[in-house]
Amino acid sequence: MAKAAESSTRRHKLLREIEHLAEMAIFGTLSETYRTCGRPGCHCQKGGPKHGPHLNISYRGEKGKTTGYYVPKGAEEATREGIAAWQKLQDCLRELAELNKDRNLQRAREAESR
Ligand SMILES: [Zn+2]
Repeated sequence: MAKAAESSTRRHKLLREIEHLAEMAIFGTLSETYRTCGRPGCHCQKGGPKHGPHLNISYRGEKGKTTGYYVPKGAEEATREGIAAWQKLQDCLRELAELNKDRNLQRAREAESR
């Protein structure tokens, strides 16, 4: 019985974390690009360092078409956190699914032994 109580505590913790992560999750792959600008005489035009990094997000949209967008400076931090949250969310969901499986099998065993 102790084990069931333990997994129920874990389940509630996971559900709370999933809710928190889901609120900030961003879907996509992050990439950083460096670009040249249009300013005449800028160092980037003369073999100097390019401007960046600029954040880009790409992802597979509906119908499997790859799409993406440029992330403005002001949204960079939230976007990086969002991407990390998405990854973490997958881990949490996987662990929750494992608990769900155990619970279902446990129930079936209990029903059989009745
Ligand atoms: Zn430049």
